Amino acid sequence: MKKIFAGAALLASALHLTLAQPVSKPKEIVLDGVAGFQDTPLQPESRWHVHDPARPQPPVVTPGTFSAAATPPGDATVLFDGKDLTAWRDRKTGGPALWTVTDGMAVSAKGDILTAQNFGDIQLHLEFREPAPPAGAGQSRGNSGIFFMGLYEVQILDCYSNRTYADGSTGGLYGQHPALANACRPPGDWSTYDCLFTAPRFGAHGELLSPATLTALLNGVAVQNHQSFRGATNWRVPGRYTPHASELPLLLQYHNNPVAFRNIWVRPIPHVQEP
Ligand code: MG
Repeated sequence: MKKIFAGAALLASALHLTLAQPVSKPKEIVLDGVAGFQDTPLQPESRWHVHDPARPQPPVVTPGTFSAAATPPGDATVLFDGKDLTAWRDRKTGGPALWTVTDGMAVSAKGDILTAQNFGDIQLHLEFREPAPPAGAGQSRGNSGIFFMGLYEVQILDCYSNRTYADGSTGGLYGQHPALANACRPPGDWSTYDCLFTAPRFGAHGELLSPATLTALLNGVAVQNHQSFRGATNWRVPGRYTPHASELPLLLQYHNNPVAFRNIWVRPIPHVQEP
């Protein structure tokens, strides 16, 4: 069988044809206690593969106090104030969000949720709490995520004493840019995200004029500094841009782990293109 395929490949190459390659299963490897992949594409202009376990881990920085339980500014759009999820929808059905609201928290369950309202450039404040005691390891410990415009994820994971591939750790632009620091609090403690997101701009023919960018503080520690996304974030592939509307819903991920959320609000902050 191998010989036949090699022969066919030779013929295809002579004819400048592309043959479908046999589908191979992703091969997870563990390096120095970190599970990841090196059979994935290389990051553009980088020597690291997507989800490369050899990529250096973000340095641990113990956070101080910051914006936990901060009240929203007067002009904020409050997306969750502890009472209900009426500002959110279930991603699959478009019906009511299926997360559990209890004790002033929304706990992830059953599926992703997205906002009924669309947003472009925003300031976002959000608080989350990882399950205690922790369960699972690597990407399976307290995984969720904030997807700006439903496409561009900054990772939420319990990375307190839990190592995973750097581009998938908390504060990372998933699969693309690791966080500048690991500022995770212990599971069971509330963490804050304060983010400035700029939507990508597309030209009249769908060409990318400027990428999506994120500045993010995790517990008051900068984890992204006006970092560009390479496109929509995804598992095992580098980012790629596909033109889309200038405003889209904000999405919170359900990744089989019950992560609690509270105090979620946004403010539109149009990025001024001209000086
Ligand atoms: Mg995630």
